[in-house]
Amino acid sequence: MPLENSPPVILWLRRDLRLSDHPGWAAALAYGAPVIPVFVLDPFIEQTYGAAPKWRLGESLADLQRSLEQRGSKLVLRRGDALDCLQALIAETSAQAVVWSRQYEPAAIARDTKIKSALQTADIEARSVNASLLFEPWEAATKTGGPFKVYSPFWREVGERDVPAPLAAPSDLAPPDAWPDSDDLGDWQLGRAMNRGAEVLAQYACVGEDAAADRLASFVEDKITLYGQRDFPDRDVCSRLSENLTYGEISPRQIWFHAQAARPGAAKPALKFLKEVVWREFAYHLMYHSPALLTGNWRAEWDSFPWRDDNDQAERWRRGQTGIDMVDAAMREMYTTGTMHNRARMLTASFLTKHLCTHWRVGERWFADCLIDWDPAANAMGWQWTAGSGPDAAPYFRVFNPDLQAEKFDPKGAYRDRFLPWRGDTVSRDASNYYQAIPRSWGMDVNEKRPSPVISLKEGRERALAAYQDHKQARDREQDTE
Ligand code: FAD
Repeated sequence: MPLENSPPVILWLRRDLRLSDHPGWAAALAYGAPVIPVFVLDPFIEQTYGAAPKWRLGESLADLQRSLEQRGSKLVLRRGDALDCLQALIAETSAQAVVWSRQYEPAAIARDTKIKSALQTADIEARSVNASLLFEPWEAATKTGGPFKVYSPFWREVGERDVPAPLAAPSDLAPPDAWPDSDDLGDWQLGRAMNRGAEVLAQYACVGEDAAADRLASFVEDKITLYGQRDFPDRDVCSRLSENLTYGEISPRQIWFHAQAARPGAAKPALKFLKEVVWREFAYHLMYHSPALLTGNWRAEWDSFPWRDDNDQAERWRRGQTGIDMVDAAMREMYTTGTMHNRARMLTASFLTKHLCTHWRVGERWFADCLIDWDPAANAMGWQWTAGSGPDAAPYFRVFNPDLQAEKFDPKGAYRDRFLPWRGDTVSRDASNYYQAIPRSWGMDVNEKRPSPVISLKEGRERALAAYQDHKQARDREQDTE
């Protein structure tokens, strides 16, 4: 029970919009004082979140508001510089401490470090905890003490570690004597950049902590045994939890714990799934130790690769009009539903960076604008892995052939039929929804015929391989003369 007259504690929520398994809640409640949950829409969020992530953030905040209100609490919303907002709240509420869970993007670390020091100078306790990763990025090191650059040894290092059981949701959320003022969520217009796309996305999003828990339960119960088929984009065998992990509506510990419990009956697929969850950890490990992962080629030698900047062919890629069905279906899946199957992400990224010889950053930005599961670390790692410029990257000669990928992973065409209007006698709901979501200025309608191919797959592959070969030889020559 909160101590009488004990000054409140501010819990600053960010990408951790939940109540259960939240070490931040536990740390804040341990003060024995009322907890004031706060979300600040600060310049970092305003500048880094694209259209779909901002819209989805608004949905998550609305859901958290509802659950807090059901428990007699509230979510206080403020907009502006995070330190200014926190200082104002401390002055208004006489709060004794601020607690938050860590973020690992370089700009977030810089912001949080500055805030911690300013609060400590003002004699306000500032505590940060880990609520979004299984392992802190600095908790795993190679034998020589450095960061991992390759996934397999990273997995060997962390894969069998004990993960503590998830924490229960707090039951007693005593309110403060008076609630500070809050912005109105609607006034933030977080869906503004989506235009009409938001209504379509809303049909596919699965928002909030309860929905995430249901999703996990049904995955573990009904699908995990089928997870070996995860490469087939039309099969509903993946967890789809990336959307919820992104906003912290579920914790990786909850996922880990449940999937481990499934291991006795489904050892192989459950292990495969756990390994994927650890890919997310690896992305954060990489980003933490090499923050440039987000902005530049992780391997500097790629700086001289002749990738093209944005171009007309990339625009056709964005609109799902390359004339290559597997690529177009995937790009439309993303625009319509806000997510894209992992195999489709790999092959669309390969198509842009290799067949269309366009810089991975062009694609990375588009994904960051469209994905409701946009994750800065996983997205940058995925793009750099595919392009070849990242750590533990796919070899340069791996140029996915989208037609062969389709034959192998969409043999009956079900995935392509689902997202493309020109393939059969009827147009599916998903294919038709795409036209409801896209800007009218694109001038596309459901009677569209298959566009002519933006490039011949053979020509694009040969050009990519030649460019990679030239680049490699030029680098070898440079090294010889050094
Ligand atoms: P499941 O197959 O059910 O896997 C469970 C969880 O493991 C996922 O929710 C995710 O957290 C993690 N995971 C699985 N595969 C990967 C992977 N390759 N890298 C990192 N974590 C993984 N993932 C994002 O969450 N956000 C992104 O913005 C993102 N962008 C990507 C961009 C490219 C070019 C590529 C190739 C991959 C990207 N991924 C991204 C990784 C992966 O595609 C998604 O995590 C996965 O498709 C999410 O679906 P799921 O939740 O059903 O995954």
